[in-house]
Amino acid sequence: MCMLKGILPAAFACLVASGAGAWAQPAPSINAGGVVNAASYTGSSVAPGGIAAVFGTFPLSSPAQASGLPLPISLSGLSMQLGNAPVPLFYASDLQVNVQIPWEVAGQSQVSITAAAGGQTSSPVTVNLAEYAPGIFAINGQGTGQGAVLDASYHLVNAANPAAAGITTILIYCTGLGPVTNPPPSGSPAPSGTLVSTAAKPLVTIGGAPAQVQFSGLAPGYVGLYQVNAIVPSGSATGNTVPVFLSIGGATSNTVQIAVQPPTADQRAGQLLSQMTQDEKLQLVYGAGGPVTANPPLPRGGAGWVPGIPRLGIPDLYLADGSVGVGNGVGQATALPSSIASAASWDVTEAYKYGSVIGAEMRAYGMNVNLGGNINLIGREPRDGRTFETKGEDPILAGKITAQHLLAIQDQHVIGGIKHYALNDQETGRNTANVEIDERGMRESDLLAFEIGVKDSNVQSVMCSYNLVNGTYACENSHLLTDILKNEWGFQGFVMSDWWATHSTVAAALAGLDQEQPDNEYFGGLGQAVQSGQAPQSRLDDMVRRILRAMYQAGLFDYPAVIGPIDTADDEAIALETEEQGAVLLKNAGGQLPLQASSLKSIAVIGSHADVAVLSGGGSAQVTPTGGPALTEGYPCPPCWAQVVWDPSSPMQAIQAQAPGASVVFADGTNAATAAQLAAASDVALVFISQWSSEGMDLPSLNFTDVIHAVPIDQDALVSAVAAANPHTIVVLENAGAQVMPWLGSVSAVLEAWFPGQQGGQAIANILFGAVNPSGKLPITFPASVADLPHPAIATPPDSSTPFPVDYSEGFNVGYKWYDSQNLTPLFPFGFGLSYTTFSFSNLSLVDNLASGNPNFQVTFNLTNTGAVAGAEVAQVYLGMPAGLGEPPKRLTGWQKVLLQPGATQPVTIEVDEDDSSHPLSYWDIGSSAWLVAPGDYTVYLGNSSSMSSLSVVGTLHLGAN
Ligand code: BGC
Repeated sequence: MCMLKGILPAAFACLVASGAGAWAQPAPSINAGGVVNAASYTGSSVAPGGIAAVFGTFPLSSPAQASGLPLPISLSGLSMQLGNAPVPLFYASDLQVNVQIPWEVAGQSQVSITAAAGGQTSSPVTVNLAEYAPGIFAINGQGTGQGAVLDASYHLVNAANPAAAGITTILIYCTGLGPVTNPPPSGSPAPSGTLVSTAAKPLVTIGGAPAQVQFSGLAPGYVGLYQVNAIVPSGSATGNTVPVFLSIGGATSNTVQIAVQPPTADQRAGQLLSQMTQDEKLQLVYGAGGPVTANPPLPRGGAGWVPGIPRLGIPDLYLADGSVGVGNGVGQATALPSSIASAASWDVTEAYKYGSVIGAEMRAYGMNVNLGGNINLIGREPRDGRTFETKGEDPILAGKITAQHLLAIQDQHVIGGIKHYALNDQETGRNTANVEIDERGMRESDLLAFEIGVKDSNVQSVMCSYNLVNGTYACENSHLLTDILKNEWGFQGFVMSDWWATHSTVAAALAGLDQEQPDNEYFGGLGQAVQSGQAPQSRLDDMVRRILRAMYQAGLFDYPAVIGPIDTADDEAIALETEEQGAVLLKNAGGQLPLQASSLKSIAVIGSHADVAVLSGGGSAQVTPTGGPALTEGYPCPPCWAQVVWDPSSPMQAIQAQAPGASVVFADGTNAATAAQLAAASDVALVFISQWSSEGMDLPSLNFTDVIHAVPIDQDALVSAVAAANPHTIVVLENAGAQVMPWLGSVSAVLEAWFPGQQGGQAIANILFGAVNPSGKLPITFPASVADLPHPAIATPPDSSTPFPVDYSEGFNVGYKWYDSQNLTPLFPFGFGLSYTTFSFSNLSLVDNLASGNPNFQVTFNLTNTGAVAGAEVAQVYLGMPAGLGEPPKRLTGWQKVLLQPGATQPVTIEVDEDDSSHPLSYWDIGSSAWLVAPGDYTVYLGNSSSMSSLSVVGTLHLGAN
């Protein structure tokens, strides 16, 4: 059909379709006003060079169309004359003839047209000629609806292939754009080599906004067809029916519709990348925050800085730590409870709020990259000094809680970060530790936590760790960075090194490291490496694209930082709530707690500066609390560089407020005898013991050791002395993670408060006095003894530079999985925590969809609060995998935290779906490098901790033939 093959078949099919009909009349005639713009079918004007449809009656034996170029001036014996020029014909039928308005009539405003056939000539009809008669073709042929608008790959721009606002160049096919620079002879196609431009450029309006026109001229190889290339403006309306029209020389075209969507971060990054010079690209792949590139102080403080590119509107990156609040002394910020307390809430909604405080405060300080998402599985080494920054030992719990933190941070337009990838599970010798672990072991433990965190949050940065993994530094480990993170998990953001964890230029870049931090010791040489061909340009471009994409994705371009005060009141409320939800009541003999204020005349508060403060964790995650620290102490060594900060929240003051009638007296705990004396003279003794820990150190043991003071306080002895003096001794723990408690049998109650944050004193008092019913559950097992750990002694380096082995032959048997597999009874199991009320599970049932294409099952039950006060229980589902797979006896696969009024019952369903990022039903198959669901029997357990004594078997699921 027609001569116009290829680009616009649909449009022209419509254009010619209306011609079929009855046999022609003897003499040709043209309807008055029967010459119309062939694109729009509107208006009476047509323009020289463009395409028109002529309506009338034409004596033809059958419809005919031109079979070659230039167009003929006679088809099936029909010819036409416009003014003095013969008319090139595309197509003729008995009612419609499609023509090119010959270029020769240019300059005239009214001419006559006649048609001749069978020796007869029609009466002349007047045609109004305009210099411009713009019309855009539409695929419905009537100038409305979906426009004949293509993208640069010649695909129709429609709902299935929307244009990206601000990015996509569209090709608009139209007619009637008037004079061109070098018109081809009438009926001849525009040359396909040299472009023929219009004399004037049309104004193109897309979605209500003016578009930048890149080209306007004749469509090469076609007759009478114009092509306008325009960029869909970023201000365009979006949707599937976005209007497009153009105007030229005072005439406006018909309106057609296309589909436009906001551009993706990828599209925007790609476009920006295309405008960057090589030097500008190189500038983004390393920090300017170290001695080589720049001397601190950095412009906004923090841990790192990457200067932006004002020419292109690329903002600076300001990097700050933020695991438990904004770190690095950027400014005073809300000191939240430890991240592990957030995990101990087992509450993803709470976790989101926690992240939002960090994100909002980062933003208020103008920091736009958060380095906080520490998800190392510290249950593998509970003495790790950074345990407080983590989310415990279980990959699913850690992954799901971390994902909420990261989502919330990115919702505040701060790039989220997850770290330290991977297997950075001890601080001792962290720069040279060579972790040895098999593929399945890491896939089902540390890497699974990262996988969930990455997939569930769309986090945009990953920090590779200091250590080596199976012989290769994590920051140049292509298996970790490229094979797994980028290729398998589909991570689209960028990988930055931990601080000075880059060890090479080419090897690191090729392995998948995208940004060196905080300096350019190695990536300063990347330009040279690209120039010499050691690293491909495409890798550098990929690095930059990933960084830009992250900036777009998190909104750094669209929501520039607004520096201002932090919202102290709101953020402190979340700090309080997190601690109240995350503190774990470990022991409560004889219902010692909650305390009855009215029956207490005297309360002894002992130890850990509980008169004025609560303890916080040290290192890069250290927050400078609002109002400033209550006190600071020394620089314990190791780590030798981090100060001990006590947050300004007085448990004693809050306790006094809860028991206004009681005399509350403090003993600092440095002298056990004095403390015991006070305890003996008091109705109840509240002993606060603490274990400071920090980045850059591991704990010497699992006992509460005093690493702060030159003359250490023996806190175990302190508790024992107090407990001996007063049977109502309640111990409050301020520490990072698992501990042993030799005095446990002699005290009545133990509350694990973690590092409780700057509302900690209030939260602790609220729990002790029952204003809040504790509902936290341990995210980490407390073993009975150091001897029960997979590695009773921490592997230590021979010197500061030689890699040394850290054997993780326990593989995925981390935390409770280790103790289960070794039949070891812990002091307190993973998932454990008491309440002031009691709960019962009833009507347990199981829906088995294991054999479906998408294996899943549901556990349904009723949960009842059988006690006298409102409280929340965390219902936990564990799964025993088929025998013979070598899996641990059980794994956590789902949970739900449910708040119930006294006597209330709630039906609960917990769904476990293999489609989830946690692969809850499968194991990592080394042979096929894939997650597989194995045939066999699966045992489903339900209860309120990982201890078998608190679990019931809901049922067994069977997959496979027998
Ligand atoms: C830590 C990172 C931290 C970085 C910047 C490093 O020492 O390992 O977790 O983000 O410093 O402060």
